[in-house]
Amino acid sequence: MTRTARPLPGPARVRGFVETAPGVFVGLNLGGGRAGMNAGTTLDKKNDGGDTNFGLILTKEKPIVIDNDIRVRKEFFAGMRRITRKAPGLLLNTHHNFDHASDNAHFHKLGAVSFGVNHTRREMEREQAAGVWVRQMAGRMIRVEHLIGKLAATPPMVTFEEEMSIRYGGRTLEMIYLGHCHTPSDTVVWMPGERVLFAGDAFDYRTHPVVRIGNILNWIKALGRMEKFPARQIVPGHGPLPPRGTKCLGELTLYFRRLRTRTAAALRREGGPASAARRVRMDEYRNWHRPHLVYVNALKMAKELRGKV
Ligand SMILES: [Zn+2]
Repeated sequence: MTRTARPLPGPARVRGFVETAPGVFVGLNLGGGRAGMNAGTTLDKKNDGGDTNFGLILTKEKPIVIDNDIRVRKEFFAGMRRITRKAPGLLLNTHHNFDHASDNAHFHKLGAVSFGVNHTRREMEREQAAGVWVRQMAGRMIRVEHLIGKLAATPPMVTFEEEMSIRYGGRTLEMIYLGHCHTPSDTVVWMPGERVLFAGDAFDYRTHPVVRIGNILNWIKALGRMEKFPARQIVPGHGPLPPRGTKCLGELTLYFRRLRTRTAAALRREGGPASAARRVRMDEYRNWHRPHLVYVNALKMAKELRGKV
């Protein structure tokens, strides 16, 4: 049945800075898809998006930046300079991944003070100690090999356990830890005045989620928690800006529910998680970014359902 499923629409392909509320900008897909791609992969219509999205919030003081990626530093600062000549004052990390926090040191050098949940600091330190911080990004189209051994993980300066409220330059931002979803460190940034929710990678829009070090069953619950925010705009960690409101979150919840149902059915027929995962089809999502992730996502789901995450 799923084999012939009609594909759902793919993501719009937008690149650059978009103002989603007065003075609240989102830098979308600044590397044009190159930051997420492996070397040798051709950029085509299907694979030209899905880079990390960043936040840039103007305030009465200096701007606030949400997330960063050393591989697209040039593109980010070129776009930022067209919006403001001021240096960044605060930097918020939504989680520890390289494509959200690898340029922290540069922001510190520019005088920014950075914030993140304790888990973000711990995970960065763990990846640094394990020697995987830069290495896991090797082989990408935007090359990082020359940074191996030279670029250290730089955790946020200020850390907190569950929630942190920041008042700065006339803006209020709340950082709220979601628990283990995409990573052990997922944190959303809620702007109650503007009703904008920066979801980090706890929500990617029309983009297959990365679950490698995630916890899918907990993630489904966290999406329910995000739906309770009275948000006008959800800003995904990857993928274009969805339509206004929180309805978009339901697309990812449904994706995970289908993945769970189909993987559970395959597990009942097959012996092990690997052979079960090979049977799982998610054909209606073939227009989403990163369609190659279906097998690994089903494999992770199978392991979670079997109780060994
Ligand atoms: Zn990401």
